[in-house]
Amino acid sequence: MDMENYIEKSEQVLIHTYSRYQIVLDKGEGVYLYDTDGKKYLDFAAGIAVFALGYGNKEYNDALKNQIDKILHTSNLYYNVPYMEAATKLVKASGLDRVFFTNSGTEAIEGAIKLARKYFYNKKNHAGSEIISMNHSFHGRSMGALSITGQPKYREAFEPLIGGAVFADFNNLDSVKEKVNEKTCAIIVEPIQGEGGLFPADKEFLEGLRALCDEKDILLIFDEIQCGMGRTGTMFAYQGYDVKPDIITCAKALGCGVPVGAFAATEKAASAFEPGDHGTTYGGNPFAAAAVSKVFDLFESENILEHVNEISIYLEAKLDELVEKYDFILERRGKGLMQGLEFNKPVKDYILEAMSKGLIIISAGTNILRFVPALIITKENVDDMIDILESCL
Ligand code: PLP
Repeated sequence: MDMENYIEKSEQVLIHTYSRYQIVLDKGEGVYLYDTDGKKYLDFAAGIAVFALGYGNKEYNDALKNQIDKILHTSNLYYNVPYMEAATKLVKASGLDRVFFTNSGTEAIEGAIKLARKYFYNKKNHAGSEIISMNHSFHGRSMGALSITGQPKYREAFEPLIGGAVFADFNNLDSVKEKVNEKTCAIIVEPIQGEGGLFPADKEFLEGLRALCDEKDILLIFDEIQCGMGRTGTMFAYQGYDVKPDIITCAKALGCGVPVGAFAATEKAASAFEPGDHGTTYGGNPFAAAAVSKVFDLFESENILEHVNEISIYLEAKLDELVEKYDFILERRGKGLMQGLEFNKPVKDYILEAMSKGLIIISAGTNILRFVPALIITKENVDDMIDILESCL
């Protein structure tokens, strides 16, 4: 069957929630993807910041194959070894104390919201708490995560959402302070806003939030679903800021392709939950946990963080050259291998032309090109990407 046919058949049976690009992806190797016609693409999207280790890492694939042959699922009524190993590695990497695994990013956010509300409930002996989130943030599509997503375009059609969501301005501590009151249970922030346009938080802002949360005994939640797992050159972006949260959420590169998320918390926050407060049938099943565990091992054995710190300087310099050269490119923003170029016009046509020339890149909003490649990209990959992109500009 050719791609047109696959696409037509898909469109007949899928609910229309995406305007998909008109290619059918078939397999991946390293930082390259192939469509069903055999065309090769250099991939600077990595499944939206998921495939940190690239496609087809043998050690990772073997670990998953072994786990399939052993056991895929046990439910959370019992212990299993991969879960214990994955949780131990996430605790060590994050510096937090306890972990709960989910199946996606949005579910990690749901869990974090519930934990913050329960912390408040235990403290005050009543419900009715509020969470402060940031304008232009993105936290997911389930109802709780949507409620605290600071972009009305995603929320409007689905109201009423869960109550108690309050919005403040990113990188504006006074705006957050104005919203804090006796009902506030938590402040949630992406250390680098992803979908909202690749905006890194200022160090003073995160430090100010930490001090505010300490003063009021409220929880600081960092959504590291996109910016976490080495993407900015430290295992979690907050480690680059030296500001420790009470709760983090992660997903995407945590499983490097296997759907898994997690929220991790300090002992103080995590102890708000007791058995029965939260649960999931699949979350962190042995298959997903085996993936997480192997991802942490490979980050270490393949020196992923060192590589990100080295290669991102090169990527930044190359993107800066484009900003210098083309007056319709306004700015480069981001950190590490989470970069954006803001144009003064929509970028969709550039993405389509790049795709026709064998380069996959994505946008964040209408005018921003987003670069979130596998963390193993080389200088040659960056050069090839820039060559193709420039030929489209
Ligand atoms: N939070 C952030 C910062 C994200 O970037 C995303 C997804 O893009 C989510 C939450 C939701 O994650 P998922 O799509 O796995 O539900």
